[in-house]
Amino acid sequence: MKNLEHSFRYYKSGKPSFIKISRLNYFVIDIKVEHIIAHIRSVIKYKWWRTSVLERDEYKCWYSGLICKFPEAHHNKAFNRIIKQYHIKSIEQALNCAELWDINNGVCMEKVIHRAHHDIWGW
Ligand SMILES: [Zn+2]
Repeated sequence: MKNLEHSFRYYKSGKPSFIKISRLNYFVIDIKVEHIIAHIRSVIKYKWWRTSVLERDEYKCWYSGLICKFPEAHHNKAFNRIIKQYHIKSIEQALNCAELWDINNGVCMEKVIHRAHHDIWGW
């Protein structure tokens, strides 16, 4: 955890992200991916994607078929996997990545079921 905090400070400082110790380097890269994801989620296009998935599924949970109280859009292929696969490093690149915005890559899930799904299958 100490390494993670150190890496986070390092990243926020805007200095080069390359650190010779491989374990730290891994953390820094991971934080960058999280940072990009946070940005993407805040853009209008992401809201459009989410709403499109939920409306297509009529707000019914993919597992139970029941109408969700707290609907969430789940990515079948994880967001961070797509970002890593296409080496996305900016919002512009993300906006131009068709796979990120493919509504066929999303399904509606009830919030608690969505959490349970990721607890079992990972994020
Ligand atoms: Zn999910």
